[in-house]
Amino acid sequence: MSGAWDVVVVGAGSAGLPSALSLAERGLKVLVLDELAAAGQGQHKAAIGGVRATFSDPAKILLCKESLRVFSSWSEVYGDDVGWKRGGYCFPVFGEATEKSLREILPLQKGAGLDIDWVGPDDICRLVPGIVTEGLRGGTFSPGDGQASPLQFAVACERAARSKGVEFRYREPVTAFERSGDRVTAVVTPKGRYPTEKVVLAAGAHARQVGTLLGLELPVTPDAHEAGITGPVAPFLDPLVVDLRPGPEGRTANFYFGQNREGQILFCYTPKELFVGEDREATSEFLPIVARRLVSLIPRLRHLLVRRTWRGLYPMTPDGMIIVDAVCEAPGVYLAVGLCGHGFMLGPGLGRCIASLVVDGRPTIPPEAFATVSFYRDFRQGQQETLT
Ligand SMILES: Cc1cc2nc3c(=O)[nH]c(=O)nc-3n(C[C@H](O)[C@H](O)[C@H](O)COP(=O)(O)OP(=O)(O)OC[C@H]3O[C@@H](n4cnc5c(N)ncnc54)[C@H](O)[C@@H]3O)c2cc1C
Repeated sequence: MSGAWDVVVVGAGSAGLPSALSLAERGLKVLVLDELAAAGQGQHKAAIGGVRATFSDPAKILLCKESLRVFSSWSEVYGDDVGWKRGGYCFPVFGEATEKSLREILPLQKGAGLDIDWVGPDDICRLVPGIVTEGLRGGTFSPGDGQASPLQFAVACERAARSKGVEFRYREPVTAFERSGDRVTAVVTPKGRYPTEKVVLAAGAHARQVGTLLGLELPVTPDAHEAGITGPVAPFLDPLVVDLRPGPEGRTANFYFGQNREGQILFCYTPKELFVGEDREATSEFLPIVARRLVSLIPRLRHLLVRRTWRGLYPMTPDGMIIVDAVCEAPGVYLAVGLCGHGFMLGPGLGRCIASLVVDGRPTIPPEAFATVSFYRDFRQGQQETLT
């Protein structure tokens, strides 16, 4: 490849960081540009760090299986601690309809090689100590899933990428692309002009705006989600727990939480009415609602001390699936956008897929799975992932 850089990655977040690393591991000279001051300062650091492959969509399953391999072996392969904890994911179930839908996707998940099964109420009580038992029917448990620290991962991934020769330039918003015909020839920021023939767009919540600079209409619209973290308590909870029930207050859909290796509980819920836009001001209603949900599920947690809450954005697509593709209208441009609510866990698998698209001209996943993440799919036809 000619040009000063083989590839310029726009965005040093959940998609851009592992993509840059994978591209460098494939022998390419990579530059990463980000408008913020450091790695992972966009939505990446808003994630609570859940990592699982137990979805119902084959593309997500395959990409996240690869991510799980990367997260779980990170310290041996790259040397840094990324806070990996293999505690599994647990979906406790209280309703007949939820039991039916979770049981229905088990054959697909097992067929994809996932270690997941239905377990009875006693097992759920062992996995989630203190959980209320009234109406508890059992649930699913996938022991191979886990959690990692987005903050530690951003630092570690940037360090690993730098060690492979990747250059990072921060506080450099990409404002234009120079082109010759359809092809990109350089990426432009207020501080410089960076010659390249290949560009990976990994601009998260700003994907639509960056796409516009290339005349692309990227269907990515951010909506806001809140999370929080407590002070540390003695380790008692191995899995990340997802309660799929809507909240009794009428404002929330599912709700999920887990305990990190430092003993802190991280928690989130999905609002029933989405907050579309880029407003990242924390709301006053989040903590009272989430605290009630947490305590009503595990009453012994009423003594927890909450340290802070925050609000971040999901870069959403109309069908809730990511967009990973090579752009036909602009050869040399690749998309790693629309990561929705699962960008942290998708990142490393997605990064390898992008590197394969750039270097080998084909994705790491089979064509029928790739079709569901393609930029050229019909976004109106898509199915929302069963497991949010
Ligand atoms: C409360 C909350 C909890 C979450 N929990 C989880 C979880 O447990 N597990 C999980 O997998 N996911 C989780 N997520 C989702 C996850 O955070 C996102 O899906 C993911 O971070 C999106 O990655 P991204 O690379 O698309 O965007 P980002 O990580 O935001 O990266 C995009 C980067 O592009 C840069 N950029 C944008 N425009 C430009 C420009 N013009 N020029 C230069 N740089 C630019 C931005 O500064 C940013 O650094 C959570 C999200 C929230 C809000």
